[in-house]
Amino acid sequence: MSLSPDLDQRIALVTGASRGIGKAVALMLARAGADVAVNYHERAEEARAVVEAIRALGRRAIAIGADVSSAAAVAAMTQAIAEQLGPVDILVNNAGIGLIRSIDALTEAEFDATLAVNLKSVFLCTQAVLPHMRARRWGRIVNISSGAARGGGGIGVHYNASKAGMEGMTRGYAARLAAEGVTVNAVAPSLIETDMMSARRDEYVKRIPLGRMGTAEEVAQAVLMVVGNPYMTGQTVQLNGGTQFI
Ligand code: NAP
Repeated sequence: MSLSPDLDQRIALVTGASRGIGKAVALMLARAGADVAVNYHERAEEARAVVEAIRALGRRAIAIGADVSSAAAVAAMTQAIAEQLGPVDILVNNAGIGLIRSIDALTEAEFDATLAVNLKSVFLCTQAVLPHMRARRWGRIVNISSGAARGGGGIGVHYNASKAGMEGMTRGYAARLAAEGVTVNAVAPSLIETDMMSARRDEYVKRIPLGRMGTAEEVAQAVLMVVGNPYMTGQTVQLNGGTQFI
């Protein structure tokens, strides 16, 4: 068994892959041999650049715009991927938003939007790709959670709820799908150098025992490890530079 899985002939969908962690995951999966659908919401140019980088590695790739909180958009996205690349074998639910809000400032609309993009999307995308994975009796689903699923976090209670819900769904799907060859795990980073963390970077970095933020590539490496391990399911892999309280 190799430490780096051979993903030749596998089709991956990474949501929110135009930048940040999703981009690094898309490139890492392509380097391991997968063809990749690069989902984005608004930043088409960035997504196209990721597609070009994957094609330069000799793999097939498409950019596909879709709001993952919309059932209709997710259905159209998975159909387009099936037609252009083939049905999805590896789903990485990475798309997310992190609106920094205090308890008093948080509105109902912001709470709902966060739950829709960060949590409902996991249900929508998973349900959309499962029929094919179950039919082939092989599938990998990796949900990008956060230390905020367990800690207090720096974003807000809406974000805590979305990520804790994601980890609950991870365990629920994993238990129901293990016998069918589909593994479902979460990777929970804390404090990774991306656009999402730029607003409070200097404040956050002081709280990390390792003395620096993590990189998107370090998160992608954990995703690849999970994808390569058929016996691991229902787990959350945390990576946080020793940070336990955020
Ligand atoms: P980021 O740099 O802000 O990128 C977010 C990505 O999600 C972008 O590709 C964006 O697309 C996409 N996206 C946002 N809303 C979407 C929607 N409705 N439909 C489809 N795509 C959507 O974020 P990041 O830091 O890489 O975070 C990625 C994931 O890791 C998130 O789930 C986040 O909660 C989680 N996470 C991050 C950290 C951290 O420290 N950075 C820590 C823990 C967990 P566009 O480019 O088109 O806008």
